[in-house]
Amino acid sequence: MSNIRFDALKSAFGHQMYNDKFQISNCERVKDYFAQDVFTREKMKEYIAKEVLEQLFDDVDNGRTIHRDIANVVAIGIRKWAMEHGATHFTHWFQPLTGGTAEKHDAFFTLDKHGALLEEFSGDSLYQQEPDASSFPSGGIRNTFEARGYSAWDPSSPVFLIGDTLCIPTVFVAYTGEALDYKTPLIRSTASLCHAAREVCAYFDKQVKHVHANLGWEQEYFLVDESLYNARPDLMLTGRTLMGHNSAKSQQLEDHYFGSIPVRVLAFMRELEYEALKAGIPVRTRHNEVAPNQFEMAPIFEDVNLANDHNLLIMSIMERVAEKHHFRVLLHEKPYAGVNGSGKHCNWSMQTNTGINLLAPGKNPYQNLQFITFLVNVLMAVHRHNGLLKASIVSATNEHRLGANEAPPAIISVFLGKQISEVLDKLEHATAEEAIIINAKKEMKLGVANIPEILLDNTDRNRTSPFAFTGNRFEFRAVGASANCGAAMLALNAAVAEQLMVFKEEVDARIEKGEAKERVLFDVIKKYIVACKAIRFDGNGYSDEWKAEAAQRGLDCETSVPLIIDRYLSPESIKMFGVTNVLSEAELHSRCEVKWETYVKKLQIESRVMGDLVVNHVLPAAKRYQTMLLQNVLAVKQVFSEDETASLNAMDYNIIKQLEHHSGAIYAGVEAMTDARHKANRQPDERSKAIAYHDTVLPLMAEIREHADALELIVDDELWTLPKYRELMFVH
Ligand code: ADP
Ligand code: MG
Repeated sequence: MSNIRFDALKSAFGHQMYNDKFQISNCERVKDYFAQDVFTREKMKEYIAKEVLEQLFDDVDNGRTIHRDIANVVAIGIRKWAMEHGATHFTHWFQPLTGGTAEKHDAFFTLDKHGALLEEFSGDSLYQQEPDASSFPSGGIRNTFEARGYSAWDPSSPVFLIGDTLCIPTVFVAYTGEALDYKTPLIRSTASLCHAAREVCAYFDKQVKHVHANLGWEQEYFLVDESLYNARPDLMLTGRTLMGHNSAKSQQLEDHYFGSIPVRVLAFMRELEYEALKAGIPVRTRHNEVAPNQFEMAPIFEDVNLANDHNLLIMSIMERVAEKHHFRVLLHEKPYAGVNGSGKHCNWSMQTNTGINLLAPGKNPYQNLQFITFLVNVLMAVHRHNGLLKASIVSATNEHRLGANEAPPAIISVFLGKQISEVLDKLEHATAEEAIIINAKKEMKLGVANIPEILLDNTDRNRTSPFAFTGNRFEFRAVGASANCGAAMLALNAAVAEQLMVFKEEVDARIEKGEAKERVLFDVIKKYIVACKAIRFDGNGYSDEWKAEAAQRGLDCETSVPLIIDRYLSPESIKMFGVTNVLSEAELHSRCEVKWETYVKKLQIESRVMGDLVVNHVLPAAKRYQTMLLQNVLAVKQVFSEDETASLNAMDYNIIKQLEHHSGAIYAGVEAMTDARHKANRQPDERSKAIAYHDTVLPLMAEIREHADALELIVDDELWTLPKYRELMFVH
């Protein structure tokens, strides 16, 4: 009898030989191939007339719509460059609400009316396309509004090549303008933040014309050998293991994090980085992560829209390169129970056109006061919208990571570190005269509000915090590894933009009444420091005491994903997204529909796969082993005397009983789970379905898993057909 697990292992060990198939030639330096596949501004100068480009860049930098005539000229340049580099097709590349990216490839030619071949890529094809929108989720938008959707060029993110295809970053919207993707509201949120932040900057520095948000993501992932992956239907179909007993050795020695990168993995990383750099993604950091076979890569931060495009692009490049190395990359937030999951820390900051990072202490009193102003407003925004920010990161897959004792808790709080906390505490208790000193020459000096230019504790790390200040940026750590970071970033941008608008209104009203600007700024900041105190927490975010305390503080402690999604529809969220023009109420409703629908589908698939796995793999192995033991008991009886068999068979009896117990529980569990699923499917709407799946199907899956894992421990290893955790995590 053959065992698919052993076949897979044999093949995986073969792949281990494949360890240095990729070498970048020594003479190739990064600068020789960086952004080789990108139509950068620099390259555009070679292909597009100067006046046209000046107009284009000016429009892009100021967020204006690109005129068709400009698009036409640009399109000719793009096509020429792309074809010179071997492109035959082009695609509008967009970010549907399903997650990931979508493409529809068209060739660079068309037929004229006589049927002759014409090479073509017009401004129109660059500008706008009509992918078959009906196959992408819209959460009812298209029923309410218009049936069609279209993708439209986002000129702020450069076009690039993947193989023979020119990719054009685009937004995806309904014909009536409602966003059907993540990019549209992300762009709207940066526009809103830019405007609001610039207005506040004007109190400190009139030179600031533009503010943008930066994002530096850190992508965590697991690698698994392709043969072992193929022998685990749950990994293949759901991205995570639905069962599997913990390996005797997993991450407890913490030897992986600091260990050297395995040779075969290093070969994969080298090629991945090469491909990423060619695509203009400035990847810089690579290291092992906490769990076995878990790794991380991070680029240098960029403008949030471009950084997000790059993250989505890298996720697909990773999959492609992994396959070449006989690996599969797991982007799921929790592929294995019992070891760390994968997140995508989103490092976020705001920067002015004058080069000032608004979240870093500055060189003079004005810059420092500006820093405190922005810091405190971010705290206020996170405090007021903590439930919404949590909603922006939840999903059926990230659910397994949140609240587990090894990842950000399901309560949003902010870690500030000792130094900044002290500054805020001092300000809270200071008088205006103590905080801000204006001398005879009308120069401002900061008293207790003084902060060192470099923060000493910017390496002070509290890994348990979902939202941490790290010296010159905030790190939103709750974001899931497989997520489009756009969802979290647009919520954060919008929340901060709205908060800055509120701040400005309050400050302006008092200045108009004749109060001194510095005094008003201090007063309002002080008031905010008190108002948002509840969001600040530097302690252990995983502890039970924190859960109790957070509830007392009035922070959002909901843990059920379908209910957390409701936060998008709270009156405060609707108002906030409305005044910032980021998402209309109809768009919010449609987004929630998609989120609930996706949640249901994911759990439905998982539950079905689990049923199949236990019935087709686990139970047959258990039964086979039980039969062996039973036959042994009978044989022992025939050979030994009655006195002797009692003790001889005691162990067999015990195992036979355990096998019976767990198998029986699995049978019953699968029946109950199927029943629960059917009931859930009959719920009248997506929200109720999602709640039913969460409340009834999910707990049954956990129960079945417990029994399956218990069986894995006792069944003869040779009969077990699913690759085990120790194999999935330690073969590389
Ligand atoms: P860690 O120690 O958390 O792994 P790193 O120093 O590797 O942090 O940086 C993580 C990410 O933070 C990188 O993508 C980096 O570019 C980004 N980053 C650094 N400074 C900023 C900033 N001011 N704004 C946004 N992202 C930043
Ligand atoms: Mg980090």
